[in-house]
Amino acid sequence: MRKALVIGNWKMNGQQVLNKSLVEQIKTGVANELLGRIDVGVCPPAVYAQSVIEQLSGVDIVVGAQNMSEHDSGAFTGEVSAVMLKDIGCGLVILGHSERRALFAETNVAVAAKVKAALAAGLMPVVCVGETLEQREAGKAADVVREQLDQGLAGVDASELSKVVIAYEPVWAIGTGLTASPEQAQEIHHLLRKALEAKSAAVAANVRLLYGGSVNAANAEALFAQPDIDGGLIGGASLKAEDFIAICRAA
Ligand code: PGA
Repeated sequence: MRKALVIGNWKMNGQQVLNKSLVEQIKTGVANELLGRIDVGVCPPAVYAQSVIEQLSGVDIVVGAQNMSEHDSGAFTGEVSAVMLKDIGCGLVILGHSERRALFAETNVAVAAKVKAALAAGLMPVVCVGETLEQREAGKAADVVREQLDQGLAGVDASELSKVVIAYEPVWAIGTGLTASPEQAQEIHHLLRKALEAKSAAVAANVRLLYGGSVNAANAEALFAQPDIDGGLIGGASLKAEDFIAICRAA
């Protein structure tokens, strides 16, 4: 049985005072009641990760990053490595988010290198895949996500696959208020599960597949009720404690 997982992706939002109150509310809202049943993660901007980790000390909420370098150290100005994230207490990292792909030219090859670096450092990689509206309308959604999955996990040993989480985030649904219907999402999640089965049937059943893209308190339950949707990667709604907690409850 896969344990549901809900991750908040704060993107480039928040400052110390706001973060403190958001984290405090999330902490009280999900503690005890929910944390035994589901896994919860929050991904603040990297500069705030350490203070969020300190605030969550003793609470079973994983703090993660939204990106990282594929290199462990060296002359890579402006970059942060998996080893560093692990060093301060991060537990996961979002990789290949569509905003990274579209705005920072991140390729599947780079994603694969980052996945391997994250695994080597002991971080849980949350690998994002998803088609654009144009690709969906051209009937290419399945091919696009399959290719992103295959290339983004290239070289990852089957024995490591169970530590990887995949997030299906249709680009047209991110931040737009347009959510994939539960059926549309399930169709792609099923396809992703099948593609993972080709790598390792035993492991595929245990890999958590998250949906992301305009998830909110009202639509989360129907999405999470789908057989291959194991939780969500939440952007906008993760910045409002009430909404994020309601989404966690729906998982
Ligand atoms: P959204 O973002 O929930 O604001 O659509 C999701 C994401 O980009 O991870």
